[in-house]
Amino acid sequence: MTPLVNSLTPGLYIVATPIGNLGDLSPRAAEVLSQAAVIAVEDTRVTAGLLRHIGVKRPMTPYHDHNAAHVRPQLIARMGTEAVALVSDAGTPLISDPGFKLVREARAAGHAVVTIPGPCAAVAALTLAGLPTDRFLFMGFLPSKEQARAETIAEVAAIRATLVFYESGPRLAACLAALADGLGDREAAVTREITKKFEEAVTGTLAALAARYADAPPKGEIVVVVAPPDPPAPASAADADAALAEALTRLPASKAAGEVARALGLDRKALYARAMEMKG
Ligand code: SAM
Repeated sequence: MTPLVNSLTPGLYIVATPIGNLGDLSPRAAEVLSQAAVIAVEDTRVTAGLLRHIGVKRPMTPYHDHNAAHVRPQLIARMGTEAVALVSDAGTPLISDPGFKLVREARAAGHAVVTIPGPCAAVAALTLAGLPTDRFLFMGFLPSKEQARAETIAEVAAIRATLVFYESGPRLAACLAALADGLGDREAAVTREITKKFEEAVTGTLAALAARYADAPPKGEIVVVVAPPDPPAPASAADADAALAEALTRLPASKAAGEVARALGLDRKALYARAMEMKG
């Protein structure tokens, strides 16, 4: 069999790991972990379990928010001659997890940066929710303080994309209620324990889901997916006439028709014909 990875060239390897089901570790990820000179980990106990599962023993070094500034230069120095792997406790490093400064500084130092993609709770939730996936915005964790949370939600209320939030059981109902307040009562899905024994996706409107979980906070890990806002109602004939009449006071008919077509999302040719009627 052709090896998935020959001997690793020096550099930084970003390795995605399972979000619950250990069977989701890719063969390539396992091979990189088995050959790395050192694995930078969030929690040595968590990654030790994964390495045991694949029968591998490699040196680990903790890399998390509290020690990153101190450990990063040491890891960057090692990348010149060795393969350094980065994992998080679960899923894809850098996604609501440490790593982006390590990647940035590895690049700045001229080291190779290689990704070993795999599980990510946000993407897995999108595949379960049954909501549009053509455009989505990953929001990570909302702030826990009420006002900051409301402000963050208000910032994205008009964005025409499906929204993805990480959440915890105890905060879920308050989060759903705040989303209903700030976004309107949109369709949503609460996805939970993805790839684990009790995986589920519960769908409904934000208010209905908030009511469901108000007195029964769920256990486990959660991703909330929220539908985009409804498209705006099409402009009425009266709106179009008013906009055209105003534009005709400043512009010739063809330009007035173009401006109103762009502003109201209407057909330019039909607006031009209407402009000529209005002028005539
Ligand atoms: N880097 C990870 C990823 O790629 O998804 C995310 C790390 S973030 C610190 C942890 C959050 O991800 C959890 O609080 C939860 O919102 C979400 N999450 C992780 N595993 C999950 C799972 N199996 N089911 C549902 N949500 C999960």
